[in-house]
Amino acid sequence: MSVCAGRIAHMFEPSELCKVSDEALVDAVAPATREEAAAAARRLAFIAEVTSRWCDDEDEFSALALIDGWAQAKAQISAACNLGPHAANTQMRIGVALRERLPQTAAVFGAGAVSAKVIAAITWRTHLVTDPEALASIDAKIAENAHGYGVLSEAALIHAVDHWVHESDPLAVIRSNAAARDRYLEFGDKDDPDGVVSFWERMRATDAKITDARADEFADGVCDNDPRTKRERRADAVAAAMAGASRLTCMCGDPACAGSGKDPRSGAVTVYVLTGQNPDAGEGAEPATVPGPDGGPEPGSVGPDRGPGDGSDEDWSAEKPAAAAQRSPTDAPAAQYTPPGAGAGITIDGDIIPAHLLTDLINTGATVRTISSPADLGAENRYRPSAQLGAFVRMTSMTCAFPGCGRPAHKADLDHVTPWPAGATHPGNLRPYCREHHLMKTLKIGWIPTAHTDGSTTWTAPTGHAYTTRPLGPVLFPHNACDTDIPRPRRINLIGHAGRQPTLPTRRRTRKKDREHRINAERVRNALGIALDIALDGDPPPF
Ligand SMILES: [Zn+2]
Ligand SMILES: [Zn+2]
Repeated sequence: MSVCAGRIAHMFEPSELCKVSDEALVDAVAPATREEAAAAARRLAFIAEVTSRWCDDEDEFSALALIDGWAQAKAQISAACNLGPHAANTQMRIGVALRERLPQTAAVFGAGAVSAKVIAAITWRTHLVTDPEALASIDAKIAENAHGYGVLSEAALIHAVDHWVHESDPLAVIRSNAAARDRYLEFGDKDDPDGVVSFWERMRATDAKITDARADEFADGVCDNDPRTKRERRADAVAAAMAGASRLTCMCGDPACAGSGKDPRSGAVTVYVLTGQNPDAGEGAEPATVPGPDGGPEPGSVGPDRGPGDGSDEDWSAEKPAAAAQRSPTDAPAAQYTPPGAGAGITIDGDIIPAHLLTDLINTGATVRTISSPADLGAENRYRPSAQLGAFVRMTSMTCAFPGCGRPAHKADLDHVTPWPAGATHPGNLRPYCREHHLMKTLKIGWIPTAHTDGSTTWTAPTGHAYTTRPLGPVLFPHNACDTDIPRPRRINLIGHAGRQPTLPTRRRTRKKDREHRINAERVRNALGIALDIALDGDPPPF
């Protein structure tokens, strides 16, 4: 029956579905589910093979390069699967774990008996197991119990994996109570409405007391006419304190109020206004400093620096080189793209800022900068782009221009696609790349970008594949889309221009050693946790 149903699943065309009986339709769902899992298994096996070709037999010198074999494999996978570096990293970890650590589990996955989601959980929940015998025994048990799709529910199977890990290697259990001891700060929830972001913080109890008391103090420091509720003022107080304020700016709107004035939270934001393309504003129109329905720059985009949550994978963020290439001339923690006609702004990370928030920001001290249109931005006779030119390129691209990479452009390096001085410092020849992908290009290991006049970039990969990325700005604000000439490379006399050789950034230790170190540290922490629990309760904890 299942073979037959499998064939039926392939035979259905979406247009024919209405003719299929209820029974045949349900018959087709199960094999299609297995096929989906089997296809995911094949995909992860390919990813593991790509990884292995770049990483196996890597010598110490290459393994110590910041762009090591793993980073090069990751770039290939990012581009081929359109995945950001963090997501590509995760897929590689899962693929390699299946191939090298859990071959029997990989086989049942390949037969479609477990979903990719459960496999992701299994590889994570076994990643601290270091003893090969324990690992083989866990692998065998998973394979033995996951042979039929749905025999164990997904949750039951994951629970069973924890149990087997606990039996074979108690120090390798991923303990939720270990996480409970950690402190963390995380931002963003998928249900957040526009303009606000949830955050969760776990801090030391004494720090919580200080924060709570200080939030009250800030919230109570405004005059009675402040329109916000105390809850809102307490929330605003946290950011105000983080922005370096010693009090909360009063929002009563009365200039005579002692508490009114510039808000340090807004002072940390730069609003970029795209000029020169508003048919009503005319060439070189000065941006209004107060936006509104009838006049000022209507809000457009881009947001506060969200810190390290930019999709960097663990290894990368640990290995950032100390100083480097071109920093943003403004290095503004936030920016707004403000096209005419839009009602709200969009942060550099893609979050929407409603018009009223943008108005508040500008009214309370956000910096407003204008960005010229490319027509006003000619070639600049120097290597480092001006602040204006840099802002234009970053605001147009909004993300790193490498395929799959979503790291924000405002934290990216600006690169001359055709290297300076043959390539001009000109909007058509500049692209933002995150440090990792900037190095990928600069090291001349086969990743070659070509700029197009519409702002898109075609990358040729070392394998010869071509991937084209588009800038996000014109996608969000189509009325700002415009072609930018790309100056022809100049003939230059290389004498005297050979100075810009890239240096090879390195790691303190290889990625492999780094990972071993982290796993070890986690196991030591588990051991301490077990010892502590025994001391407190007289009994080792259930996992
Ligand atoms: Zn007031
Ligand atoms: Zn990138």
